[in-house]
Amino acid sequence: MQPVLARTKEDVQTAVREWRAAGASIGFVPTMGALHEGHVALVRAARAGNDRVVVSIFVNPTQFNSASDLAAYPRSEAGDVDLLVAAGVDLVYLPAADEMYPTGFATAVEVAGISDGLCGAFRPGHFRGVATVVTKLLLQVAPDRAYFGEKDFQQLRVIQTLVQDLDIPVEVKGVATVRESDGLALSSRNLRLSPEERQVAAGLPRALFHAADRIGAGAAVPEALEEARHAILDAGFREVEYLELRSARTLAPLAGLTEPARLLAAAWVGEVRLIDNVPLAPQER
Ligand code: AMP
Repeated sequence: MQPVLARTKEDVQTAVREWRAAGASIGFVPTMGALHEGHVALVRAARAGNDRVVVSIFVNPTQFNSASDLAAYPRSEAGDVDLLVAAGVDLVYLPAADEMYPTGFATAVEVAGISDGLCGAFRPGHFRGVATVVTKLLLQVAPDRAYFGEKDFQQLRVIQTLVQDLDIPVEVKGVATVRESDGLALSSRNLRLSPEERQVAAGLPRALFHAADRIGAGAAVPEALEEARHAILDAGFREVEYLELRSARTLAPLAGLTEPARLLAAAWVGEVRLIDNVPLAPQER
């Protein structure tokens, strides 16, 4: 069945209100479009856990810290809607920028601490933009559950924190990263890679998984990180922005594998910035 398209918050709220009155549970997947199998995994999780599924497509201008990055962000609305039809979505919400940010819009949501460091250190204002738009979307759609990818691990933790702090009545679900067969995490930004850069890009997850194995086997963290940094540059990346072992819970820096952790990195291949992260758990010894 063709999903309903909504362009205003009133249209979304009308649909959701009717479903809820009929006793249906609502799952919600916010996206910026240029959809791929990673997004589809979120939709599948939402389908499996709810009676109705809403997906939003909104390229949020306030989370881009450079005008050229926003202009270069891939857009494919018609193809995205076809893909969502095939995935069995009930409603696609496609707000225009002035629907989200009408004249006079003046409020921002800032999640202190967890937004600092990692991507927050290199993209000033990014998480304020993300936190603000996700808060608005969660309040507009009012779902029972909302689904976010572990691919953007810091973003997932920022959203879990704001939902808890602001008492937003929604359950936030994290979904494991979907990867290509060579390990590259699916990302809308991969569309911007040349064939050569696409080959290089696989060096990022390769280095992360290798370092995670070494740390899991007891290697010293600084040495394992240094080796991984070299491996990423040797693969052909032009710059490693950050490469860090952090607590999976608090995102505090870790000197050793003393608690469930995440190894997170951002690196540039040509003009494309890629991020990735892998989980590590302390071994019973
Ligand atoms: P985006 O459209 O890039 O803003 O992503 C929308 C949602 O899809 C976010 O929750 C992302 O974390 C998630 N996502 C993006 N890529 C992947 C992936 N490869 N695997 C799982 N989830 C992903």
